[in-house]
Amino acid sequence: MKTETLLAHLPAQSRKALLKNYQFAMTDTMRQAFSQSEQGIGAQFIPDVRELNILPQELSDPIADDPFSPLPFLVHRYHNRVLWKIAPTCAVYCRFCFRKEHIGRKGEHPQTVDIQAALAYIAAHPQIEEVILSGGDPMTLSAPRLAAFLLPLREIGHVQRIRLHTRVPVVAPDDVREDYLQVLRDSGKQLAFVIHVNHAAEFTAAADAVIARLQHEALLLSQSVLLKGVNDSVEILKSLTDALLVRRIRPYYLHHLDMARGTSHFRLSLDEGIALYQDLRALVSGIALPNYVVELPNGGGKTPVLQLNEVQRAALAAMGIV
Ligand SMILES: *Cc1c(COP(=O)(O)O)cnc(C)c1O
Ligand code: SF4
Repeated sequence: MKTETLLAHLPAQSRKALLKNYQFAMTDTMRQAFSQSEQGIGAQFIPDVRELNILPQELSDPIADDPFSPLPFLVHRYHNRVLWKIAPTCAVYCRFCFRKEHIGRKGEHPQTVDIQAALAYIAAHPQIEEVILSGGDPMTLSAPRLAAFLLPLREIGHVQRIRLHTRVPVVAPDDVREDYLQVLRDSGKQLAFVIHVNHAAEFTAAADAVIARLQHEALLLSQSVLLKGVNDSVEILKSLTDALLVRRIRPYYLHHLDMARGTSHFRLSLDEGIALYQDLRALVSGIALPNYVVELPNGGGKTPVLQLNEVQRAALAAMGIV
């Protein structure tokens, strides 16, 4: 399927507006996955006119990273770990992404001065045990570029672990290169990958080969977003957790969708999410059950949906998450 074919369903006018407002990219692996499978794969990546329907409550920074950024590209929300947005690019652009307005051509790369300032901040905060590489997708960087961020961490003894949040092993497995993995090893830190995957049919033979390789040297976890029309049935969620466990990936997070612009057609209510999660909990082993979480407004952070209190529910409702 060519790119033109993927966009053919869009009226010319909306197509122009969509491509202007949001990024679009597709990989051969995902084309293959969704030509062989159901709707759920394509809907994550192919532009849809409903994205132009932007609700007043939808935000450009829905999880409020900015107030917790001591420096550009660095988010320090939790005591012992920092999130470092080292790449503004992705291999695919998920239509529901909460960073969709800060990535791709709208995103900036950290400059040398930004990298040095972030490293100095990490060095000056001995409580930081974990550096989380994010973006965009950190695995879209070249190995030499990655080395500029990581190799200086060797000198910072209190950093024990590097965690990558990435979709590349699944959506663009051919882009996982040995020289990149070598830089990760050369950091001398413990490695963890949180692999983003929303549907079992995203696992192709090429992805499986990459995952088998990563398995030897890193802890593997997963992160998914609960999405209407993609994975909003207990059968699909069960098959996803089965697919993860078979690959020895521990299901870690199931996110409730954030209030990113133009995402209302993917949105489930909290009660719908809770009902699905309870059904899933009845079907799967405890070790296969991800944490179902939602980001509280104003940078309140991730909170288990089942433990929300009335004040938090009201705060979420005020921002449109009901
Ligand atoms: C989600 C997130 C983390 C990671 O939190 P964990 O509970 O360790 O998974 C760290 N920093 C920021 C800013 C985050 O949004
Ligand atoms: S890969 Fe991650 S950061 Fe990139 S568009 Fe998808 S969800 Fe957003």
